[in-house]
Amino acid sequence: MSKQEIPYKIYLTENELPKEWYNVRADMRTDHRPLLNPATHEPVTLAELEPVFCTELAKQELNDKDAYIEIPAPVRDFYKMYRPSPLVRAYCLEKYLDTPAEIYYKFEGNNTSGSHKLNSAIAQAYYAKEQGLTGVTTETGAGQWGTALSMACGYFGLDLTVYMVRCSYEQKPQRRTLMNVYGANVIPSPSDTTAVGRKMLAEHPDNTSGSLGTAISEAVEVALTKPNTRYVLGSVLNQVVLHQSVIGLESKTAMEKYGVYPDMVIGCAGGGSNLGGLMSPFMRDKLKGERDPYFIAVEPMSCPSLTRGKFAYDFCDTGKVTPLAKMYTLGSGFMPAPSHAGGLRYHGMSPILSQLYHDGYINEARAVSQVDVFKAAIEFARVEGILPAPESAHAIKVTLDEARKCKETGEKKVILFGLTGTGYFDMISYDRYMKGELNDAPPTDESLAEGEKDMPKV
Ligand SMILES: *Cc1c(COP(=O)(O)O)cnc(C)c1O
Repeated sequence: MSKQEIPYKIYLTENELPKEWYNVRADMRTDHRPLLNPATHEPVTLAELEPVFCTELAKQELNDKDAYIEIPAPVRDFYKMYRPSPLVRAYCLEKYLDTPAEIYYKFEGNNTSGSHKLNSAIAQAYYAKEQGLTGVTTETGAGQWGTALSMACGYFGLDLTVYMVRCSYEQKPQRRTLMNVYGANVIPSPSDTTAVGRKMLAEHPDNTSGSLGTAISEAVEVALTKPNTRYVLGSVLNQVVLHQSVIGLESKTAMEKYGVYPDMVIGCAGGGSNLGGLMSPFMRDKLKGERDPYFIAVEPMSCPSLTRGKFAYDFCDTGKVTPLAKMYTLGSGFMPAPSHAGGLRYHGMSPILSQLYHDGYINEARAVSQVDVFKAAIEFARVEGILPAPESAHAIKVTLDEARKCKETGEKKVILFGLTGTGYFDMISYDRYMKGELNDAPPTDESLAEGEKDMPKV
């Protein structure tokens, strides 16, 4: 089949939905650095994780043996409401850029939560329900995860309390209302409803804009104290990357139908789940030496965990109650400037992505400025129609750069990027960009050194 015949959108049928998630850890030829108990520095056990996490999810967290894990039938049924998601050949963007590159994007914004987060939310809610729990707690930054989990908990009839990073809570009141529609209780963080929240408020009375790390601590505290309740997390963890592999598996099947394979895979990286999921099956080929796609992780200059962080054991939260994970981190006390890509403000990075980056399998990490990101977002919206989430626009920015390079060199690279979500709730940010009010202040070396001082000595 000639490449001209590739349609604008490649839709798989429901029968082509993956029946199993792919666990890239099983194929990584590296020692997996285990999660450590913060008190003893010994690897955490299932028994230690169970008071915090749902049992089945804790098992997935520790599983580095099984490459494929069955997607439960009720989760697949829910997936059918909005999956398979389209893989789009960006003909209009290619024409606009006048590039010989072929650009594809996997669009995860076509569900009400507006992002890929629903892929893991529904799986996590399912396992909580199966275990007979009555509710779960979580945090949300930009609001996409909280919305996705609200939808999932609403579907399975679970109680949900969401700690929402305060700057997002104030910037995006509609997000909060949307979560309420699906039945969630939403609390701005830091809050006075938890010990750790009260401590943060007392120590930083001038900085109440909050961070994901603090919101995590609050949600974990409540999960530990409320009966029949566990904590769930929308990114960073191995289990989330596992669930998000559905993105990559569908992309690979869709591309195979037309005999194409990406030379380059680009994704934005906050906690690493969408990029982890998108790249997993392609990474499998690379780990097995069969193919050699070039992977780029894109992060904001304001929260540069891969490009300026340290590969070290660190807490996953600001309150230092979670296990220690070996990851690229800016320190659990790092407070990023209030950027407009709330979903990319986490101090650490998925241990899977961190290890793959450390070992050179992820070829490159690039930090980009939010002004450049919004510029790219608007160029994209005007030619491809979709209004991207600011997080997603980080991947767009680098895709535009790479496609423009191809124009200079004449290379016909096949570029695949993750369009993780839509930006309807980010109009204040778009507005501020268009008024020229956004600025970029990368963290100073001093503030990064501060964050590093805080890391546990392991
Ligand atoms: C949460 C989010 C991200 C970043 O999270 P990852 O775990 O790195 O994928 C990116 N895009 C959107 C739209 C999000 O909601």
